[in-house]
Amino acid sequence: MPILNKRLHITGIVQGVGFRPTVFNLAQKHALTGWVLNSAHGVEIELRGEENDLQAFIAELRQNPPPLAVIDSFTVEDAPAENFEGFHIHHSEDDASDFLPVSPDLNICPDCRRELFDPANRRFRYPFINCTNCGPRFSIVTGIPYDRPNTSMADFPLCPDCAGEYQDPANRRFHAQPIACPVCGPQVWYEEDGKRLAEREDAIQSARNALTEGKILAVKGLGGFHLVCDAKNPQTIEKLRLRKRRSGKPFALMAFDVESIRLYARVSPEEERLLNSPMAPVVLLESTPAGKELARLVAPDQNRLGFMLPYTPLHLLLLEPAEAFPKVLVMTSGNLSEEPIAYTNEDAHARLSQLADGFLLHDRPIHTRIDDSVVSMIDGVPHIQRRARGYAPLPIRIPAASLPALACGTELKNTFCLVREGYAFVSHHIGDLENRETLTAFEDAVRHYEKIFRVHPRLLAADMHPDYLASRYARQRAVDENLPLVTVQHHHAHIVSCMADNQLPPREPVIGLAFDGTGYGTDGAIWGGEVLLATWEKFERPWHFEYLSLPGGDAAVRKPARMALSLVLQAGIDPDSFPFAFHHSLDAEEQTAVANQVRTGFNTPKTSSLGRLFDGVAALIGLHQQISYEAQNAIALETIASPDEKAAYDFPLQDGLILVSPLIAAIVADLRNKIAPGIISARFHNGLAACAVNVSRKIRADKGIRKVALSGGVWQNKTLIKQTITALQSAEFEVFWSRKLPVNDGGVALGQALVALSLSGNLKE
Ligand code: ZN
Ligand code: ZN
Ligand code: FE
Repeated sequence: MPILNKRLHITGIVQGVGFRPTVFNLAQKHALTGWVLNSAHGVEIELRGEENDLQAFIAELRQNPPPLAVIDSFTVEDAPAENFEGFHIHHSEDDASDFLPVSPDLNICPDCRRELFDPANRRFRYPFINCTNCGPRFSIVTGIPYDRPNTSMADFPLCPDCAGEYQDPANRRFHAQPIACPVCGPQVWYEEDGKRLAEREDAIQSARNALTEGKILAVKGLGGFHLVCDAKNPQTIEKLRLRKRRSGKPFALMAFDVESIRLYARVSPEEERLLNSPMAPVVLLESTPAGKELARLVAPDQNRLGFMLPYTPLHLLLLEPAEAFPKVLVMTSGNLSEEPIAYTNEDAHARLSQLADGFLLHDRPIHTRIDDSVVSMIDGVPHIQRRARGYAPLPIRIPAASLPALACGTELKNTFCLVREGYAFVSHHIGDLENRETLTAFEDAVRHYEKIFRVHPRLLAADMHPDYLASRYARQRAVDENLPLVTVQHHHAHIVSCMADNQLPPREPVIGLAFDGTGYGTDGAIWGGEVLLATWEKFERPWHFEYLSLPGGDAAVRKPARMALSLVLQAGIDPDSFPFAFHHSLDAEEQTAVANQVRTGFNTPKTSSLGRLFDGVAALIGLHQQISYEAQNAIALETIASPDEKAAYDFPLQDGLILVSPLIAAIVADLRNKIAPGIISARFHNGLAACAVNVSRKIRADKGIRKVALSGGVWQNKTLIKQTITALQSAEFEVFWSRKLPVNDGGVALGQALVALSLSGNLKE
């Protein structure tokens, strides 16, 4: 048997995931000599041994890479003959021009979980236990390469025991950068009124006692602070809503295990897998009858509850089941509504003291704040609604870009996107860029991503809306750094994002159904019900929903009663001919004002937004006349839809317009006939799904296009998207929707970047 030398080169998420120890152990097993090292390109391996041993090694590594590794490429080549003394792990090489993907923060692994509750283990009940397979990553990275000095663990020198594990290739904690133990690692403490009342184990017990008593706590977790309280205590929930100034918005929940969640929500096998996955997101689950009781407190208007499992050892200790201890905790982000989540101890003291009765704190700094991700399942496929912890900053593969680029994203649910070569780094959820604090969080995050992924943008992209803070940031930067700036239409970016997410070819046009809340149109109107023919480079708009009047602009967004009256007027119906629900929330004066605005167009933007149509229809049939958060009425409307109703309202197509007035006339006729709101809602949903098929058929007849891309916030409506996908598929369309990115504005930045790169001729195919 000949003795050969082979060189392996592996790229992707291959650092910080236990790759080198796996390679080391495999080399021992197959009696190979050589070395492995982390380079700025990935992992390099040199091997020497008998040919069949080499083949066995390669096959085994390909088939069983470390569980958290994501391999992009795996190449094997012959290497010149060279002898080695055994097998060694060499020091990292760094090439300042290259970059490495950084692993997201990971759910506690089963091994660490077992050790956490094992009295014989030296990390028994230690709230920061972690290993190569789990624990904090992205949130603690301060620089590159990913080594302990470049994390927020830099100030915790390893004790001899931890150092031994860190250096032992056979140990599960070999080169686990956040490794810690009770001797050398971070600690927790509990505070009330600025006084430290308890340390370590006692701190957790004090926090548990406070939660049992109905107090609201600020708890420092992995990516930031949560406000935490007993989810079943009505007084506490009421207090939390008042303090957080969050009237109707749902709160995320945490329970100790899946069995506890099942008391309140149905959990399918796929959903259970997702709850337990390394990402451990909040999963939106269908409520059981007991869950509906709970939802009345924590998620009004919804038939779904957002649950997650404890994803850090600290959360496991905090939620451990006990006789009087609450079974379900609210775990909502530690902020006032609209502000970014608090993440440093100082920040929490400053901003959360008014909100929390006590603080469970620790001294491991969080370098990058990151919210919990939110995911729902559609027919067993994850549908990401908020992409943050556990997912970001994993890159998305794209065709190679010849210029590094930055796309600044949208106003609401902002994310940004940095592109270099064949990778798009879509940031974690930043939030609504409507205030100074969120803008600062955005600017800090852009700087950090540019640093750790070594991207120096030579091209900028932004939304066409001139007043978005992200667009202003882009304009300023274009001037300061003398860079080209491309502005991109919001819904074009939505559809391109969906195309790229599904790896559709850039130049082959698709039918894009952008059903959305708000986006600035090329004609200055507010778009959001658009049927586009799109490639990455350009789009046409063959159909769109009929423009409606938005009397008073934002006033009509916050008060859908105004929208309902506007719809009635638009359809030529006398508002006084029926006791509409809006009569109760608009006095005579406001009704006259709205009517004047609709007639004259004064302070009344035109909109094709389906988000606004949902708001208006919901108000028309008696749901919220006033809302406290975006999409509240759309969610309420979806919640009441009768699943058994099959009839559908008609949306006639005429000269490029999808008409809405006939819909309003039909709804008003049903109201007069005392048809139940749940039936009306179902007919509205059915009608929209049918309309999506009809308009797609028109385009297929005309242009022969069969691929349909769905994007825009309206598709977060599970009833609507499921129905539409089924209907389009049975009409023999190929349907695509976002998978790795949110279907809402959180996915738009990727589309912006790709449109800008295509338009400027900077994409290699
Ligand atoms: Zn672990
Ligand atoms: Zn230690
Ligand atoms: Fe949008």
